[in-house]
Amino acid sequence: MEIIDSHCHLDDFFYEGKIEEVLSNAERASVTKMVAVGTNPKDWEFYAEFVRNRKNIFYTVGLHPLEAKSVEDVEQLPNFLEKEIKPVAIGEIGLDYHRLPHEQRAKDETIELQKHIFEKQLEFAKANNLPVVIHSRQAFDDTFNILINSGMSGNRILFHCYGYGVSEMEKLKDFGAFISFAGTLTFKKEQVAPLQAANLDKLLIETDCPYLTPEPHKPSRNEPAFIRATARFAAKMLNMAENDFCSLTYQNTEKFFNLK
Ligand SMILES: [Zn+2]
Repeated sequence: MEIIDSHCHLDDFFYEGKIEEVLSNAERASVTKMVAVGTNPKDWEFYAEFVRNRKNIFYTVGLHPLEAKSVEDVEQLPNFLEKEIKPVAIGEIGLDYHRLPHEQRAKDETIELQKHIFEKQLEFAKANNLPVVIHSRQAFDDTFNILINSGMSGNRILFHCYGYGVSEMEKLKDFGAFISFAGTLTFKKEQVAPLQAANLDKLLIETDCPYLTPEPHKPSRNEPAFIRATARFAAKMLNMAENDFCSLTYQNTEKFFNLK
């Protein structure tokens, strides 16, 4: 049964000469489509080239909150709408307060810059009618408020690597947002309840490779083929047949990113 990896990072595999091996592993695991997610101007350029002649790999462009150092980087986004192969979304963008420096002053400045760059990218996505992939860590309220204020419709928003609780899931459900779970689901028990609370019509699955290797593949580095393990686990937690779970998330991913 075919499956889509809705969020992966492939540039490291490429630079290390391992990309062909990783893609053939994915093919053998029937991972027939992948969305490679941008984090900074360097990987945006890389993906725009890399996806040419690879019809099953799509890409996004966006400045990750931990890469949000200069507003000028955001001004490069329009260039990608002129590329031969265009990005399918803006992302991953958002807020990440997890790894901020402890010193308070630095913290405030970093947060303000993250917020400003996040808002700019939402404006760009909205103006160009593109969906957005959200990275949000230890910053739910600020992320949610900025999304509401952006005026973007909930069904154009995808929370990737979902790591919040059930109450946040309820808010996102009301908002109509899409949600994606990564391999952490297989080893973090507290993620099962939010998964079970999710709206099945808005549910996606991802590896976020090379990070977040699912059980039982730890401690190997994560790759798209390992999405099978997360799918198997999620299907079990939802009391669904694995094939049904794969086709459900396949359709949801195609719909969200408008993949053809
Ligand atoms: Zn990612």
